[in-house]
Amino acid sequence: MKIIFLDIDGVFHCFEDHMKIIFLDIDGVLNCKATCAQSSKNYKFDADKVVFLNDIIHQTQANIVVSSSWRCGMTIKNLQDMFGKNGVNGIVIGSTPSSTHGRGDEIQQWIKNHYGVESFIIIDDDDFDMGDLLNRVVLTDMETGLQAKHVEQAITLFGMGK
Ligand SMILES: [Mg+2]
Repeated sequence: MKIIFLDIDGVFHCFEDHMKIIFLDIDGVLNCKATCAQSSKNYKFDADKVVFLNDIIHQTQANIVVSSSWRCGMTIKNLQDMFGKNGVNGIVIGSTPSSTHGRGDEIQQWIKNHYGVESFIIIDDDDFDMGDLLNRVVLTDMETGLQAKHVEQAITLFGMGK
């Protein structure tokens, strides 16, 4: 048997200087109340919300780090495949670690452990556990998920607004 001990970061993922990152939730962002249960069952996002996410990615060239609980039990490759199959044009470069101190802490840990983050935003339908990162959140709503107005907010938060 021949074995390759393989690192992921810097091998499959090309980390660059000046990266823009979207820390991305899924439930309540890429699906909504009406579609959430089905969505989690068959790993499908709502097509209309994917269009809005692709718009943000197209305008900012940001990469995706998954902060949703969907990341649990999934490799980065699994997540990349799932996003690709759902028509997302961006690159999933990671997922946040787990912390008992909430999502804000998980995101801060990821940033601390990765080189080259120039700026970041968080897209989530909850902000109660974002701690010091509240001002980086584009807050969606479980009723409707990602909408056109959030595209504008995301671009503005990246400092790329008109
Ligand atoms: Mg959510």
